[in-house]
Amino acid sequence: MKEAKKFITRFAPSPNGWLHLGHAYAALMAAKAARDANGSFLLRIEDIDIGRARPHFTEGIYQDLDWLGLTWPEPVMVQSTRFDVYEAALAKLRAQDLVYPCWATRGDILAAIQDKPDWQRDPDGAPLYPGLYRELPESRRKKLIWEGKPYCWRLDMTRALGVVSQKLNYRECYAPSETEAETEAETPPQTIPLDPALFGDVVLARKDVPTSYHLAVVLDDAAQGVTQVTRGQDLQAATAIHVLLQKLLDLPQPDYLHHPLLRDVSGRRLSKQAGDSGFRNLRQEGMRLDEVMALLPPPFGQG
Ligand code: GLU
Repeated sequence: MKEAKKFITRFAPSPNGWLHLGHAYAALMAAKAARDANGSFLLRIEDIDIGRARPHFTEGIYQDLDWLGLTWPEPVMVQSTRFDVYEAALAKLRAQDLVYPCWATRGDILAAIQDKPDWQRDPDGAPLYPGLYRELPESRRKKLIWEGKPYCWRLDMTRALGVVSQKLNYRECYAPSETEAETEAETPPQTIPLDPALFGDVVLARKDVPTSYHLAVVLDDAAQGVTQVTRGQDLQAATAIHVLLQKLLDLPQPDYLHHPLLRDVSGRRLSKQAGDSGFRNLRQEGMRLDEVMALLPPPFGQG
């Protein structure tokens, strides 16, 4: 008989700010999922954003999670140590002609669509890439590379979907219900259809780093043997890109649990960018763990 695969999930914060209560909730959700399934909870530091990631934020992540009572196996996977893995995967996609170099700046992209008010946007609200540099003769590409201007690598979505001819879907383990308290009840995973074409030619390697979030996340989840990706609903739409990359790179497809995002009293979702204060402030102000937990939604608190 085939042995059941061990359940492995993870928390994958980016060290570009202090963790806020939403991160605490996400980490606790993942750790609880692992505990309930008698599996493992892993930590991964997603620090590919070299312009914004800072070592003291990484240190802060370890301290904050430790204060929450969480434990994880060492060594922790750190994305900035894995650029060679991302480069090798990109080379595979290049060999299949599924990615192309793109020199367009943000300004070039905006200029290309400025007279088109109805230009399509992706599910995250960004304008679809208008295809600049997609169909460039090889000689011109070589010349531009030789000239040394920075470029990123984009997925040729049409070609990629041609290679993966089957319909894509994934298993979502979180089923929203009437009240948050009810989400504790056992709800079977749902199969969700995916349409990666809605995102167009996404960036797989940025101008400044040899990967992008999308490429790194699928390679790392596979390398860590993750069977359930636990993360916020803000990343649910991007699962379409991730499942497509898993197919193109021949990686196993995990299940997903996209939990709700925490909001402040005005209904705005918490974010580092908006400067929402870290929960380390709360503890430095003397709040106890049970008081912080009480601020979180069920199953941890009543917040
Ligand atoms: N590093 C991402 C973040 O901090 C999370 C990525 C993921 O869980 O897939 O928002």
